[in-house]
Amino acid sequence: MIFDRKAKAMPDYYFRHLLDITPDDIKNMGAEAIAVDLDNTAVFFGSFRLEEGVREWTANMLRSGIKVIIVSNTLNSRAFILSKQMCNVGFIALSLKPSPRGIENASRRLGVPAEKIAMIGDKLSSDILAANRAGAIAVKVDNLRHYYEKENNIPKYAATAATVAAAAAVISVLK
Ligand SMILES: [Mg+2]
Repeated sequence: MIFDRKAKAMPDYYFRHLLDITPDDIKNMGAEAIAVDLDNTAVFFGSFRLEEGVREWTANMLRSGIKVIIVSNTLNSRAFILSKQMCNVGFIALSLKPSPRGIENASRRLGVPAEKIAMIGDKLSSDILAANRAGAIAVKVDNLRHYYEKENNIPKYAATAATVAAAAAVISVLK
């Protein structure tokens, strides 16, 4: 059986965090534009406040001649509010990822062929699959929440340590 990677949710590149991706990384992928996911990539799920540093990250990409557009499954109104915080870049809301349609629309809007668009997102089953279906460059990042849990070693490990300490204290009293 031939493994058709492009029909699958297999990324071309992986970074831990959106902010780890530099303009040189994008250029080295052969991309001229970025289509970026919102939820758990540029903003915590459901939040109306862009993650710290994303505005500067976007400005830096734009300064380097890389086009940026939001491709998100969120509602128009929320994508609009977040795009304002993100250097006023364009957006495709209700993109219905994993359908390739959002990225195809982005391609038309930007005048950049899909194969020169790096679709950055946290979800294999939507962002990465949509990117592959559209023939774009699929770039996977960690889900923001998981990233910070790992980075700060919280909260489950802290809770576990506290529980173990409490149990040890109870046992020592019972002895
Ligand atoms: Mg997402």
